[in-house]
Amino acid sequence: MQTDFSDAANPDLSKILLAAINQSFNSVVITDAGEGLDGHLIVYANDAFCYQTGYTLDELIGKNPRILQGALTNRGMISELKSCLKEKRFFQGSTVNYKKDGRSYYVEWNISPISNEQGKLTNFVSVQHDISYPVATNSMQELLLRALNTTPDSIFITDSLGKITFVNDGVVEHTGYAATELLGRAPSMLQSGKHDKEFYRLMWSALTSGETFRATFVNKRKNGTLYDSEQTITPILDTNGEISHFISINKDLTKRVANENELVKAARYDSLTGLLNRGAGARELERSYFKLAQGSPVSVALVDVDKFKNVNDTWGHPVGDEILRLIADALKTALRETDNVIRWGGEEFLIILDQSDLKRATDLAERCRISISHIEHVLVKKITASIGVAQLNDNEELESFIRRADKALYQAKKNGRNIVKISD
Ligand code: GH3
Ligand code: MG
Ligand code: MG
Repeated sequence: MQTDFSDAANPDLSKILLAAINQSFNSVVITDAGEGLDGHLIVYANDAFCYQTGYTLDELIGKNPRILQGALTNRGMISELKSCLKEKRFFQGSTVNYKKDGRSYYVEWNISPISNEQGKLTNFVSVQHDISYPVATNSMQELLLRALNTTPDSIFITDSLGKITFVNDGVVEHTGYAATELLGRAPSMLQSGKHDKEFYRLMWSALTSGETFRATFVNKRKNGTLYDSEQTITPILDTNGEISHFISINKDLTKRVANENELVKAARYDSLTGLLNRGAGARELERSYFKLAQGSPVSVALVDVDKFKNVNDTWGHPVGDEILRLIADALKTALRETDNVIRWGGEEFLIILDQSDLKRATDLAERCRISISHIEHVLVKKITASIGVAQLNDNEELESFIRRADKALYQAKKNGRNIVKISD
């Protein structure tokens, strides 16, 4: 049976409704029609409104609700409210209001005009709702999300069954999958097949006992390429101590590996010419030196550009650099794959000629000389180099070997340049 709440059937209705309003968790405030000098004045406020605003009922009665407004109150919202009141329309909005002690809170509120039986406006009833907590929670969530998306690491959250419930932007970048392709699926979709059963057994054994599992995973991107990922997977426990989620934080090592390769390259090669630098060249030389002990002849050719200072002085250093690059190319073109060309000094190149006796080395040096003399450049019309050649003798120290090549080079310079001289 339905209860009849009409006035006639229930003379205590006002009392009942008042009790209900006073118990409401939402704030209710009622003003008059606003005909007095001071505009709309509060004629009633429930307990929740007093609690929300920090005022007692006595302090509120007869006051205009504008006492709640302050610096951050949304002025546009208030003028919208005023025109609604003027036109006796329903209003709904949200803004910042202020408690008696000055603390602010976010409020969402509506106002309805109430008219009497004659149709005359008598009151406005306003129901309000403090949304500070959801607003704060939303902005904190947004902040956390932004923080998660700012990190270059990829972050997955899976539920206890291992289904992905969250991925940050890093995941999308590392894997090439869109978030929608990953959510609801298992991270095993990234498996590369590079780990054995034992690897996964160890992982699950750590995770199910509540421990963090750390390892370098080889994962597969959407496009099928593999990448190394340093992963930390941690089980998250709920209030009952049960695993509710797993959070996996991963560093894509691809960039690091690429950087390390860059460093290795920088440590070994000359940046201007791309040839071996002096340090790496010296190590190659030692390696070749030991080959001699195995009965294989080793020779070197020391190349020095002729009158290179003139090139710099006439055309400038950048043109000099261009010429050095062209010389490096000319040397590589003239030589065999196996010959090591080293940028030994500024405009000096040392060539290690493995399995080459003096005759073979001289032929190769001659090819180098010719190759350099054929270089064409728009500005520098004549480029030549002088070369000293030496073959490593039995029981000879490396130092003396290079010194003999240097002496031969000096002889080449002395004998008019653009020639190959052999050390005797
Ligand atoms: P020579 O025929 O006697 O060898 O004459 P040279 O002018 O080549 O000899 P010198 O040793 O006096 O000059 C070598 C010049 O090479 C001086 C130096 O400024 C230049 N040089 C050394 N390294 C570089 C470089 O990396 N770039 C450029 N543009 N010039 C360089
Ligand atoms: Mg020189
Ligand atoms: Mg020179």
